[in-house]
Amino acid sequence: MPAVPAVLSDDYVERCLWQSQVDPPERTPGPLPDRADVVVVGAGLCGLAAADTFARLGRSVVVVEREPLGWGASSRNGGMVIPELKAGPRTLEQRYGPVGLRMHAEVVEAFEYVRDLATGDDPVECSWAEPGMLLVAHSTRHVAAVRGLVDELTEVGESAHVVERNDLHTEIGSDAFVAGAVVERTGSVQPAALHAGLARRALHAGAEVFDRTALRSVRPLTVGHEVVTTRGVVRAAEVVLATNATADAAVPHLERRVLPVGSYIIATEVLPADLAASVLPTGRMVFDTRNFLAYWRLTPDGRLAYGGRRNMDPTDVADARDFLYDQMVAVHPQLAGVPVTHAWGGAVCVTLDRLPHVGQVDGAWYATGCNGSGVALNTWLGHRLAESICGEAPLPACAELRHRRIPFHSFRSAYLPWVGRYLSLEDAR
Ligand SMILES: Cc1cc2nc3c(=O)[nH]c(=O)nc-3n(C[C@H](O)[C@H](O)[C@H](O)COP(=O)(O)OP(=O)(O)OC[C@H]3O[C@@H](n4cnc5c(N)ncnc54)[C@H](O)[C@@H]3O)c2cc1C
Repeated sequence: MPAVPAVLSDDYVERCLWQSQVDPPERTPGPLPDRADVVVVGAGLCGLAAADTFARLGRSVVVVEREPLGWGASSRNGGMVIPELKAGPRTLEQRYGPVGLRMHAEVVEAFEYVRDLATGDDPVECSWAEPGMLLVAHSTRHVAAVRGLVDELTEVGESAHVVERNDLHTEIGSDAFVAGAVVERTGSVQPAALHAGLARRALHAGAEVFDRTALRSVRPLTVGHEVVTTRGVVRAAEVVLATNATADAAVPHLERRVLPVGSYIIATEVLPADLAASVLPTGRMVFDTRNFLAYWRLTPDGRLAYGGRRNMDPTDVADARDFLYDQMVAVHPQLAGVPVTHAWGGAVCVTLDRLPHVGQVDGAWYATGCNGSGVALNTWLGHRLAESICGEAPLPACAELRHRRIPFHSFRSAYLPWVGRYLSLEDAR
């Protein structure tokens, strides 16, 4: 049982804060067309960026989305725009050679792409800011890794520095951490606004977006594909699968290569300005170094959003909420008693090597594998994959990686709790 049960506001809802602040995105009325140059499956950031790019390159493009538009991870994430691949550029190069370095360069390009969407000509209004990121080490065992990351980033010209324990109070109102690292190239958005704005942008560019329309199967034809959906059949020269964690049995090859893992977020009431400043004086996007990492930030309207998960056991939003509240107050005792107004969850897409992947199944393209950091990455992957298919750019570097199956995928609910126990033990050391 959590030591500190969550304090709930009178108007508490199990609903995503971001979605409650944004009108539902626009979509295309009427029936599905029976032909298109491209069908994109999945209308998250990846699918919409692909659709927008195809349309701008003169292709007719139809997006089919199984759920109501704006339902998915792309609208309910932490809104942290982080150019990261779970390892620094030197480590990626040691593991994957020149492909590793290219992947690092591309994740920076991904960040620039989303920044340009949010701040360039015809910007997508999504409360874009660039507060930087603070990575905090919860144990002395992790300090070397934090220092190593800073070294690797500064070697390639990134602005990053170590924050020693004695100086941490300038960055975070907490005594829970032993050191930290600041990485300046990190942004923040209101995720549902980014998603809705990207949907609008793709529609205005000429894409057609149909929600509540699920892919059933993709069949390669002599030329092109037959795309069978719950609302009819579309013939298309190209198909792009942008389903990330939610890949389902419509494409078993892809489903077996991704692991959906739940992540949860609570949002507090709007904090008084002095309390908000006592928690995060510099307003950075914060992560810790645990396997079951916590991530937190101030929202554009001045709440604290705190996310994470306890372990790999089955859970629900209420259980996760109490755990997160307990952890949040342990890290920031000044928040004890502050009511939570919203709690929600969503699925993160984990791959075996914790890297993104681009590939083909029977001629249909896919981009997947956010591993918890897809706001920049997956958006750009959709854009770049569309450019590549149109012959305007090379494929992303991750297309050169082997995309391996998740072992014993069908039995994952039996073994994942045990994996979780091992990871929790490591975190407790
Ligand atoms: C709680 C949470 C917090 C997160 N925080 C961050 C963060 O702070 N920063 C960050 O960078 N990343 C974060 N992420 C990850 C980020 O949200 C994802 O990387 C990103 O949204 C992936 O976008 P996507 O378009 O690839 O996938 P999604 O947004 O998941 O879209 C895939 C879509 O495919 C649809 N689909 C699936 N199967 C079918 C089918 N058969 N037919 C039709 N449609 C189908 C689904 O309904 C879904 O809408 C977080 C994720 C979660 C869940």
